[in-house]
Amino acid sequence: MGLMTNILQTDLIKGLTLTLQNFFKKPVTLRYPEVRYELPDTFRGAQILKRDSEGSERCVGCGLCPEICPSKAITLITSEDEEGEKRVDFYQIHLGLCIYCGYCQEVCPVDAVWMGRDYELSLTDPSRLKVTKEEMLQKGDDPHYDRLGESR
Ligand code: SF4
Ligand code: SF4
Repeated sequence: MGLMTNILQTDLIKGLTLTLQNFFKKPVTLRYPEVRYELPDTFRGAQILKRDSEGSERCVGCGLCPEICPSKAITLITSEDEEGEKRVDFYQIHLGLCIYCGYCQEVCPVDAVWMGRDYELSLTDPSRLKVTKEEMLQKGDDPHYDRLGESR
């Protein structure tokens, strides 16, 4: 019984010492959502799609990003117009499957798809995890989601 009491007292003192040591330190947590984490430039959040200087979609439907995607999160459907030019009919990323590796951004030959800044992806409707081309283009137009903005 005496030994048990000694062990408990030692643990209690250790615990209290640790608490006191950290009591006056600056907290590492943030009061979210009022205070936001300062994202580094290398942060990889939900993807955005960029436009060219004339405001048209940059994506040319080459098929490289769905090919390289390790989690098969990208769906791409293309067709040809009257002049035989390829057009993107459907482009979708399933954010629930995506592992945010950034390969899609790295492989894109025309810098169309970029990892954005959006990390607030909790949803009540799982179908909203499938993001369409239109939504990604909209995010690409919005500096809030665009990691590097005008610099690219
Ligand atoms: S970040 Fe990686 S896993 Fe996500 S869509 Fe791009 S290639 Fe696929
Ligand atoms: S986003 Fe880039 S890599 Fe993906 S299909 Fe379009 S052009 Fe190709």
